Amino acid sequence: MTGANQRQRRLADLRKRITGPQDAYERCRAYPCGNNTTADRGEGLNRLYCRKHVEFYRRHGSYVKRSYGAGELKPYRERAMAWLQSHRDDAEVQSAAEGVRRLYRAAGAPVEAFRLPGKSPAERAKAIWAQLRKREVDPLEVLAVWLAVDMCLRDDIQPDRHDEYRQVQAAKLIHRMAGGTHKRWEHQRANGHVEVTELHKYPVSRGQVLRVLGSSLAAACRDLSGPDC
Ligand SMILES: [Zn+2]
Repeated sequence: MTGANQRQRRLADLRKRITGPQDAYERCRAYPCGNNTTADRGEGLNRLYCRKHVEFYRRHGSYVKRSYGAGELKPYRERAMAWLQSHRDDAEVQSAAEGVRRLYRAAGAPVEAFRLPGKSPAERAKAIWAQLRKREVDPLEVLAVWLAVDMCLRDDIQPDRHDEYRQVQAAKLIHRMAGGTHKRWEHQRANGHVEVTELHKYPVSRGQVLRVLGSSLAAACRDLSGPDC
């Protein structure tokens, strides 16, 4: 069979999988959701979950467990930071902090949030690290995020123990620490009044960029133990 024929067949097969999901689950797996799966609705290839739960997963790193709130994580971040400061000379802390500094150094020039749409997840993740470097965020603060999520998970009576959830939770905080891009213009009107225009843009906190950020941070924190619970 020729290459073109094979491609035709693969395309036809793909089309059939999208539009005729005979072997797909009809209902979303996220209990107790009763929505049709996206495959069933002919909208995509996710055979297990509905559109709403696919979006939920992109944002939270779990199909069912919502992200921890900033307030929920705050006391853990404080404890983690206190621990890191009192252990800053330990080899495990030094090496993890060096891992964060390496991410800062490898990130290249900061990119304004306005220019991020359309860039790859890896480029957007770099922009976040570059932004942290520019704002001179202490690498220990970054490590505290990782430890805080870990401690919060250990205290949670219904935790999601998948690496992905842990990484996405840490990445969301890192993302927030990077802040956004803020612009302010003043124009003088004919009548002498000064009019101010402000524009605030934050990078979107969902999708693959969170996985990229989270797994880089996980690698830097590989040997970091943190406070005992
Ligand atoms: Zn659903």
